[in-house]
Amino acid sequence: MPQNNGEPLMDTSSPPFDFVREQYPLAPHTLYRIGGPARWAFLPRTANEAKAAYTWMVDREMPVLILGGGSNMLIDDRGFPGGVLFTTRLRGVETLGAGRYRSGAGVPLADIVSSVMLPNNYAGVGALTGIPGTLGGALYMNAGTINGSICQFTEAVTLLTPEGVKTVPMEPALYRYRSQLFCGKHEVILDAQLTFSVSDKDEVAVYNHYIQRRRETQPQGWCCGSVFKNPPDNHAGRLIETCGLKGTRRGGAVISEKHANFIMNEDNASFEDVLGLIQLVKDTVYARFGIRLEEEVRIIRP
Ligand SMILES: Cc1cc2nc3c(=O)[nH]c(=O)nc-3n(C[C@H](O)[C@H](O)[C@H](O)COP(=O)(O)OP(=O)(O)OC[C@H]3O[C@@H](n4cnc5c(N)ncnc54)[C@H](O)[C@@H]3O)c2cc1C
Repeated sequence: MPQNNGEPLMDTSSPPFDFVREQYPLAPHTLYRIGGPARWAFLPRTANEAKAAYTWMVDREMPVLILGGGSNMLIDDRGFPGGVLFTTRLRGVETLGAGRYRSGAGVPLADIVSSVMLPNNYAGVGALTGIPGTLGGALYMNAGTINGSICQFTEAVTLLTPEGVKTVPMEPALYRYRSQLFCGKHEVILDAQLTFSVSDKDEVAVYNHYIQRRRETQPQGWCCGSVFKNPPDNHAGRLIETCGLKGTRRGGAVISEKHANFIMNEDNASFEDVLGLIQLVKDTVYARFGIRLEEEVRIIRP
């Protein structure tokens, strides 16, 4: 047995932070309610704490996963063997004047709509209404709707990278449909400067319209929203529906009867249940239409 002069042995590999948790369950932090534990979960309250945790992981060449609201994540039941950096406590919205704001990455996108856009009747509510998750996750995904996406309302983002903190001014060349080029896979969006202009429409009416539309067209329950991106000039949901796949089950997962691009965790579905349906959809749509569907959901394996 190793001796240490009677002192308790310290695990020198433990992260030296009070905001870290070991073997931390991830499923409750995703809207799929699927996924095993994180070896280490970091829940920083400030950008400085996020930076310290990130540097600690990068220095050890530890696999890093950034987790926002978990609304677009399908995590393996075996969990994540490295460090998961939660951004949800990086809150706070600062008013900069003239329709400009600086918001922490962990602010829910819904709060930006309800607390910033609606009270000021800012244009763009139709692009951002009803999207769960955080501002950081929305920027990483360039989330939005047919009416526009979050990057259009963004002037700059602050990133944490292995080389340090940097500010990237936003420009249209840096984003496209549900993807972007300004933030790498293992980099962290800490905050963003948003800019809005006053609308000539009643944005509360726009909001109510789109909330109602989602109620009518989207199923309720544990899911990630649209599983697949729409192929150019097409709709993934329509392709899947035409293949007759609505209602198809695999274990506890099912392709929604209401919206074919939604795969629901209906009854304690496993990672493999959902993945099995994803593969079935891809194979079936390709066999029938020769179109390769691309996942919008982020699939996280150990
Ligand atoms: C019911 C439902 C409806 C939805 N409707 C829409 C919709 O209309 N339009 C749409 O675009 N999406 C939609 N989504 C998908 C999802 O809500 C969006 O992609 C959302 O923006 C993801 O944000 P999040 O904070 O939950 O990110 P997460 O799911 O936590 O993460 C998504 C990705 O972003 C990365 N990430 C998260 N935060 C950061 C950060 N701070 N820095 C760097 N990387 C980060 C993660 O590593 C991961 O790769 C829907 C989802 C659901 C469940």
